[in-house]
Amino acid sequence: MLGNDPYDHLFKLLLIGDSGVGKSSILLQFTDGTFAADQNATCGVDFKVKMLQQGGKTIKATIWDTAGQERFRTLTSSYYRGAQGIILTYDVTRRDTFEHVNQWLEEVGKYTPGGTKDVILVLVGNKVDLEEQRRVSTREGEAWARQRGMLFIETSAKTKLGVKQVFQELVQKILDSP
Ligand code: GDP
Repeated sequence: MLGNDPYDHLFKLLLIGDSGVGKSSILLQFTDGTFAADQNATCGVDFKVKMLQQGGKTIKATIWDTAGQERFRTLTSSYYRGAQGIILTYDVTRRDTFEHVNQWLEEVGKYTPGGTKDVILVLVGNKVDLEEQRRVSTREGEAWARQRGMLFIETSAKTKLGVKQVFQELVQKILDSP
């Protein structure tokens, strides 16, 4: 797909985070503009390719999804290898998924060659359309990300809120990094 199109940069971006937080949904909303309320976790895709125009450059992004492997804690070094950007997602309606972001960050540090400083990270609080079920405040997410020099964005893969912004801000920060 789009294999022969010219591009200025090739970026590998990853989605990580607990099962069910909406990783596949964010990816599909961004690449295909679709949302499935009854998405089956086992139907996750491996990756999608998207061409992005940003700052006068053409970026070919391969965006990887865990395809449900995180349920078995089998994400390995090959999943992380060569990634420039990582989207660490939790579900604002499930506090446990926010409590696990620390463990996810530790895993990133373990599997990226230079630790977390070699990769640009964005913390994403998804499902903000379910405001009445919210269990993690915007301020908490923001503070956690800020302390670690990460970007922070709240999203709804259902309504699209913030989804494009996640990829735009992530790609921009990768382009701006030395
Ligand atoms: P993954 O396991 O992290 O890839 O999560 P999925 O993308 O499979 O989503 C898990 C469930 O949450 C599915 O039933 C989705 O339809 C639902 N979901 C994902 N994102 C949102 C969202 O932003 N809002 C709502 N209301 N549901 C969502």
